[in-house]
Amino acid sequence: MGRQFFVGGNFKMNGSIKSVTEIIDNLNKAKLDENAEVVIAPPSLYLLLAREHLRKGIEVAAQNVFDKPNGAFTGEISAQQLKESGITWTLIGHSERRVILQEDDAFVASKTKAAIDGGLGVILCCGESLEQREAGKTIEVVTTQLKAVADKVKDWSKIVIAYEPIWAIGTGKVATTEQAQEVHAAIREWLKKDVSSEAADKTRILYGGSVTEKNSPELAKQADIDGFLVGGASLKPAFIDIINSNSA
Ligand code: PEP
Repeated sequence: MGRQFFVGGNFKMNGSIKSVTEIIDNLNKAKLDENAEVVIAPPSLYLLLAREHLRKGIEVAAQNVFDKPNGAFTGEISAQQLKESGITWTLIGHSERRVILQEDDAFVASKTKAAIDGGLGVILCCGESLEQREAGKTIEVVTTQLKAVADKVKDWSKIVIAYEPIWAIGTGKVATTEQAQEVHAAIREWLKKDVSSEAADKTRILYGGSVTEKNSPELAKQADIDGFLVGGASLKPAFIDIINSNSA
């Protein structure tokens, strides 16, 4: 069986009660590709609002999770708390957290393990900087980030990988279909070698970085691109076209 097309919307630290409600109303009314799995990640303040108002079949993700179940960890949220609230997914390892908040590979891996043990699905982000790409280190950087997780997590059935070159995030500079497909194929090869053939066949690998309704249909046609993680465009009505781009 083929891999189900997956589209995530990462609102980042954007929105208000009014605008998040409008996005949800738009999604609720929209005709969405029934074969696409859709997950939106609003700021944590709006997770419950989103879960309460979103129609069934669209899931809600946190943008981050901590690696402990409870305790004296001011400002953090656990997988158990998310799960209990109907939030079934979390992003982990987004480059904005890796770079701005200095989250390293070991912490990303520890959080991924905690999220999976706590019953969440994980959108695990990886990607190289422009400097690393220009030095020819893209595959090395990405597989090192993923290997840290593979050292701690054996079951990849609840992980969706999001390949997001840092130079393409929020810049309007999308990777070419060839650049994206090349890295996705290398990640699949790595999964086969370092995790299992089953994980290589079944794990969805999303592309993220300046995805729009204009570039998504071409990207979606690539053999190893199984969907998108969408930032800026997930706040706009065009998000619906991106969700539907696999059937366009
Ligand atoms: C993201 O934040 O994951 C992202 C891909 O952002 P954008 O689509 O705005 O580049």
